[in-house]
Amino acid sequence: HNHIDHATPEKVHAAIAAGDTHAKLPAYEDLAAYRAAGGYAKLEDLRAHGDWEAVQEDVLDAGLRGLGGAGFPSGKKWGFVRANAGPRYLAVNGDEGEPGTFKDRYYLERTPHLMLEGMLIAAWAVEAETCFIYMRDEYPAVLEVLRREIAALETAGLVAPGYIDLRRGAGAYICGEESAMIESIEGKRGLPRHRPPFVAQVGIFDRPTLVHNVETLHWVARILREGGDILTAEEKNGRSGLRSYSVSGRVANPGVYLLPAGSTIRDVIDACGGMAGGHRFKAYQPGGPSSGLLPASMDDIPLDFDTLQPHDTFIGSAAVVVLSDQDSARDAALNMLRFFEDESCGQCTPCRSGCEKAVKLMQADRWDQDLLTELCTVMQDASICGLGQAAPNPILLTMKHFPDEI
Ligand code: SF4
Repeated sequence: HNHIDHATPEKVHAAIAAGDTHAKLPAYEDLAAYRAAGGYAKLEDLRAHGDWEAVQEDVLDAGLRGLGGAGFPSGKKWGFVRANAGPRYLAVNGDEGEPGTFKDRYYLERTPHLMLEGMLIAAWAVEAETCFIYMRDEYPAVLEVLRREIAALETAGLVAPGYIDLRRGAGAYICGEESAMIESIEGKRGLPRHRPPFVAQVGIFDRPTLVHNVETLHWVARILREGGDILTAEEKNGRSGLRSYSVSGRVANPGVYLLPAGSTIRDVIDACGGMAGGHRFKAYQPGGPSSGLLPASMDDIPLDFDTLQPHDTFIGSAAVVVLSDQDSARDAALNMLRFFEDESCGQCTPCRSGCEKAVKLMQADRWDQDLLTELCTVMQDASICGLGQAAPNPILLTMKHFPDEI
């Protein structure tokens, strides 16, 4: 996994400025290689004589769910978007701002055309007029790869010039929230919208919009080329499918690991070659900072959609961070709340003031648990979007599982 850090923004921006990007780009599968291996045959076939409902059925049967965090059945979204009159749009959410998540980057730096073909198939299914790709600017190598490969698709006649509109995010975590991303694509400040209406009904420029995560589209292309059983054949602990876990923290080999969806944290740590030398497993973040921290004693839960719900948390985008006996759960939770305080868009008071207040309370020698609990309830109940609603999770789970530290 060493190659993951070769594309620092500084290095790639400097290389691009010097007109020498190629040497700095990852060794990815380009259009010629992808087509030689059968890529885009499915898209061309579908465009010629495909039945979108049959394709939707294949995606539903494969059990594909949105891999940006929400886990909504992907095929169902197509039906919701199609139910609204056109023109319709498609947006790829490539903001990947969840701390600890780097799976989308991993796939785009290797096989960008799987996402692009998946996107074009989904766009065909909902008859999208334009595809927007919203890509975080902190991934300059990915942006350059996409620029080149979109141009190659245009030259090859697979898409009309301008059909794919590549947009650069500007570093705001909240723009990974789909309605804030849509505001940003429209050229406005990224403020989440109230729902309903949902973006499938009223999205970009008030048009029905299909929003998919990068990895979700990667799997759309693979399911349609290789068959849905590439996912359904994987069974573990009563769960079906595969998850791309982005693993960091105190493990021997951090990185992206594609494992059965029923994997527990022990399986994930094993896949990483065990704990880093001198570290004993203490706690883990199962899915981004919004998921808070669980103790090592809860090591037998399949890390999948729905399975963490009874434990008041969720898998999200499967950003697993492993903490050891050398880490403080209290400090980690405070760090998470500082992040939310920074990234709150400021639109609603429970989140804007709540995150700030929580950070102050968490800095005290002893946490005022009654006051923090009250604050968490207000934030959960009254925030507009998922950021403010889930920001209390690190506080509540730390109070529950690590009472000695607070
Ligand atoms: Fe903005 Fe936070 Fe309110 Fe979401 S919950 S709209 S991030 S202030």
